[in-house]
Amino acid sequence: MDNDDHAASILGSLIEGAADAIITTDLDGLINRFNAAAEMLFGCAAPELIGQHISALVPPPRRSEFALWLRLVTQEGRALRGDTEVLGKDGQIIQTYVSMSPLKDAQGTIAGALLFCVDISARLTLQNVLQKERDLLEAILETTNDAIIMVNSARWVVSANLQFEAFFHLARYQIINQPVEVLTEQIKMRPDLPDELVNILLTFVGDAYQSAGGDFEIGGPQLRVLVWYSSPVYAHDGTNVGRLFVFRDATREREVDRMKTEFVSLVSHELRTPLTSILGFTDFILDGDAGPVDGQVREYLDIVKINTGRLIGLINDILDVTRIEAGRVDLKRSLCFIDELIDSVVQSMFLVIDSRRQQLTLKIEPDLPPLWIDRERIAQAFTNLLSNASKYSPADSELIVEARLVREPEDFAAGAPPDIFVPAIQVAVHDRGMGIAPQDQKHLFTRFYRAEQAARRQIAGTGLGLAIAKSFIDLHNGHIWFQSRLDYGSSFYFSIPLVEAE
Ligand code: ADP
Repeated sequence: MDNDDHAASILGSLIEGAADAIITTDLDGLINRFNAAAEMLFGCAAPELIGQHISALVPPPRRSEFALWLRLVTQEGRALRGDTEVLGKDGQIIQTYVSMSPLKDAQGTIAGALLFCVDISARLTLQNVLQKERDLLEAILETTNDAIIMVNSARWVVSANLQFEAFFHLARYQIINQPVEVLTEQIKMRPDLPDELVNILLTFVGDAYQSAGGDFEIGGPQLRVLVWYSSPVYAHDGTNVGRLFVFRDATREREVDRMKTEFVSLVSHELRTPLTSILGFTDFILDGDAGPVDGQVREYLDIVKINTGRLIGLINDILDVTRIEAGRVDLKRSLCFIDELIDSVVQSMFLVIDSRRQQLTLKIEPDLPPLWIDRERIAQAFTNLLSNASKYSPADSELIVEARLVREPEDFAAGAPPDIFVPAIQVAVHDRGMGIAPQDQKHLFTRFYRAEQAARRQIAGTGLGLAIAKSFIDLHNGHIWFQSRLDYGSSFYFSIPLVEAE
């Protein structure tokens, strides 16, 4: 075998063994080679096709394009490639990538065309699926009412939806695929957009761990409240791919909330006036000022009085809650001694506690320094705790009230929060009552929340007392906490720091 024959034989084996379909034609486009991979792709045996024109492998609409390719390759020596369609067995269309180049003889003269064909239908199907998913995600992003922006881990803005453009009047094309600083610079130049928006973006953009949220107002022709939320985004494999920022227009919600609070406050005021008059006249009759009151009538009037008192108490609680919600509680501070405050509350509750034959023990440290507080509010908080201790404890049980000065954070009773201020006065109310189940404990201090035990035993209450107590204590930079065991008892604590007069 001479060298040429040897080379031709190696080339032949290479072509036959190639994974891609390889076809060669002469200058007229007649097929003269059709390898095994081509047989697989087209589903025809080589002898069936050898000698046929290449256009037999191409669907009619593509034939003129193919004829042009063949001419450019064989006559002008060009090499062409691209995605196209070919005809498989039984006329089946196969998506393929075809590369067509001139085939030259030993003298370098073009003798025909060499075609590589790769089946790309699987790739196209996958591409289609991916594209559909992308379209769907994009459609969701574009349709949502929230403004959404995604910043990748390299701090580049990679996506911003239509609402983002609408909320902030920032053109998307100017910020997408740009560092986040391009966006923050644009925000800074806009007087209607708050600095807070820049701070939110710059503070959290590089943070791969924390979620955060809040709200802020934006100007423009009409003031709007935006609630925002941001969290890191992770890929399947757990790598951080960036951060999502979501903004929701809560203007209407806030307005409705404000109107609701105002309405409740108005109605409560209107209810309180006639109730106070009912209570006053009931007392008037009970005192005998309207004539003698016999036993049965007195009994009924006592019930009217108790229930009217309860209603007034409830309305006062609701008014407190609405004031707290609206941030309208102004503290009227003065220097007060906690022992005197405790004494006066105990006296006002004495009848209730005594009617249950409960024993109240006071353990007040002597010479406690005065507190700079709103006496009414702290008395209210303490009343709520003492009244709960009595209400949720059986008759004949013992209640203990303690007050002491605490100088070091570790000297507070167990369960105190870590960031508590010292020096402070700690007041405790202990009872041997029904206690609070662990699943209820985490919800205490939430408005209208009542533990299952209390509700089941039909002990009257609204679930407002603790929430109000907490708000009043918070306003004094104090803390409130508790320890409780079901069927054993509870201890509620609050601390008020000894702050200097403002
Ligand atoms: P209310 O007593 O009007 O229901 P509170 O806000 O004062 O409202 O209390 C909320 C709930 O916490 C009560 O319903 C009760 O289930 C529980 N709770 C509060 N104090 C005690 C206590 N000392 N012992 C047992 N449960 C209590």
